[in-house]
Amino acid sequence: MQLALKKGILFVLSGPSGAGKNTLLNAVLEKVPEVHYSVSATTRPSRPGEINGRNYFFISPERFQQGIEAGEFLEWTEFCGHYYGTPRRFIDERLAEGKSVIMDVDIRGAAQIKSQLPEVVSVFLLPPNMAVLHQRLVGRASEEEEAIRRRLEKALCEVQALTDYDYVIVNEDLDLAVERMKAIIIAERQRVTRIDCQRIMDQVLGGMLE
Ligand code: ADP
Ligand code: 5GP
Repeated sequence: MQLALKKGILFVLSGPSGAGKNTLLNAVLEKVPEVHYSVSATTRPSRPGEINGRNYFFISPERFQQGIEAGEFLEWTEFCGHYYGTPRRFIDERLAEGKSVIMDVDIRGAAQIKSQLPEVVSVFLLPPNMAVLHQRLVGRASEEEEAIRRRLEKALCEVQALTDYDYVIVNEDLDLAVERMKAIIIAERQRVTRIDCQRIMDQVLGGMLE
């Protein structure tokens, strides 16, 4: 029996660039179809293979500024010279429909979301070590050497934010990391405080009295 949630659950995933957030999310979204991905807006150029509207909404700095002024973003930040923001409407609508949403934000974005929506579930993804993180960024081949250096440098202080999160996953073996993320989603859906308890009690007790 699928438990009916009173409201959808918002999951945020953070971790150093190259830790594997997008790789993990893609795999989780394939296996847990009831969870929706919140597509962010960004002013950074698209990487080869990235699709506008699917990976990000790739927009100009002017359009981003308009979005800020119009209050379109739940939160926004500047990261390594580019702007990133979470469109508010998609999240509000899905949560109101009782659907869960998962998103990938940096540590400042996660803190902003937590201050507005304290019931958010936050997950921090770590690489096994910095050497592996470096290899992954080089292997992804989406940034120049200088940008990789900045992202690695940023990673050193980002990791210090770990204690502000609810859960941690070390992404060494991808399949294991995906199983762990799935386990977190499943466990959060079973929380008594999130479900319509009256409905489930009526179902269970009603069945007994018939
Ligand atoms: P992020 O979204 O955190 O910046 P990506 O998902 O783009 O990171 O992953 C960075 C690189 O590391 C990609 O080339 C991806 O294929 C690779 N990668 C991700 N997870 C693993 C893993 N568990 N083992 C090996 N390579 C991985
Ligand atoms: P990338 O350029 O590697 O896709 O993302 C760089 C960083 O921006 C990552 O740490 C990612 O989590 C973060 N990010 C992506 N979208 C958003 C967003 O909408 N808001 C915030 N605050 N950070 C984001």
